[in-house]
Amino acid sequence: MVETKHSDTKGAATTDSSSSSSRQEGPGGLWDSVKKAAFVIGSGILFLAAFGNSLTWHLQRFWGASGDFWQNLWTKLYLAFEGHDAALFFFGTMLFPTLTFWVSNALLLLVDTTGKPSFITRYRIQVDKNNPVDPVKLRHAVKTVLFNQVFISGPMVVVVYYLMSWLGNPCSPELPTFHWALTELAAFAILEEILFYYSHRLFHHPGLYKHFHKQHHEWTAPIGVVAIYAHPLEHVISNMLPVVIGPVILGSHLSTTTLWYCLALVSTTISHCGYHLPFLPSPEFHDFHHLRFNQCFGVFGVLDRLHGTDTKFRQTKQYERHTLLTSLTPLTESIPDSPKKVSRHHNQPYSSEQHHNPQSGSFSLSSSTLPSLPHRSSSISPVSGHMAKFV
Ligand SMILES: [Zn+2]
Ligand SMILES: [Zn+2]
Repeated sequence: MVETKHSDTKGAATTDSSSSSSRQEGPGGLWDSVKKAAFVIGSGILFLAAFGNSLTWHLQRFWGASGDFWQNLWTKLYLAFEGHDAALFFFGTMLFPTLTFWVSNALLLLVDTTGKPSFITRYRIQVDKNNPVDPVKLRHAVKTVLFNQVFISGPMVVVVYYLMSWLGNPCSPELPTFHWALTELAAFAILEEILFYYSHRLFHHPGLYKHFHKQHHEWTAPIGVVAIYAHPLEHVISNMLPVVIGPVILGSHLSTTTLWYCLALVSTTISHCGYHLPFLPSPEFHDFHHLRFNQCFGVFGVLDRLHGTDTKFRQTKQYERHTLLTSLTPLTESIPDSPKKVSRHHNQPYSSEQHHNPQSGSFSLSSSTLPSLPHRSSSISPVSGHMAKFV
């Protein structure tokens, strides 16, 4: 595990001392986290053991009705490529996920660039950001994303194909069973959480951050395409590897691999999109990572809970909003920010102690005492009365 805690002679980074010390303490400490994780996993296993059969029976029944349809479609595709497995694999794992990414992001970009329609923009997490998005910054991000997709993801998928063909046959004529595909997807997700969490924390090490990960964090209020706006090395290690490794290890079928790549891209797009929309997974967790840099490193938050890297997040309004929105009222309205306390010292210049240090990727302010974190580009910290600007 790589600690982001470090001493910085420039006085900018004393980051996580509060969270690392709290790990040793009672509630919220490491042991407490392990117990909670064990309880959640244990309950999950019990639940699956009790209801798993009937759940999969219902799903299988649905699959049984459409299973033939998918098998026929696959057979047609398989025959159409006449044994050109490499082309078929590349077609599946590049074309479908890339199309999925750009279709969903084209829709989001329409909203980001026009600031309309208001029935979407009202769900914006950082309410006064990207309204509309800076076109120069956006153009640069899109160019980088295209570069990463063409020159990094493309060649990596070719390597993955040869690796998978060497280990097995990803393009077999038979589709996997429904149960097996589900099991594999669950395993991929676990692997992604582990590999993304640790590689991401590694990139927050001050020695690596400024060279590689700072680019991704230029967006303190992210939008969908920023999901793969990253330095090429980060794109290989942190974005691609955690996703592609699962199907290689399990010797998965092309269909499951393609589905997984699509799911991973949609999921990371939602995490970065900047809108907490109804009936979609909550993007608050990773949005908070972009806002505060030294919290919420993982995908699902399991390892953050275990390592105490979500302790500050759990004291915020964003954490209260980190839930599946099942009504049409935006969470910034139903759970509003706490009223800002205006200090009598508010005329003082910004305190450098409270700034995010973009060189190192860390904060000097121990914000665990903050009742809620600022959403605005500038706000008053109730701790010291200084203004804290987070962009
Ligand atoms: Zn991100
Ligand atoms: Zn990061």
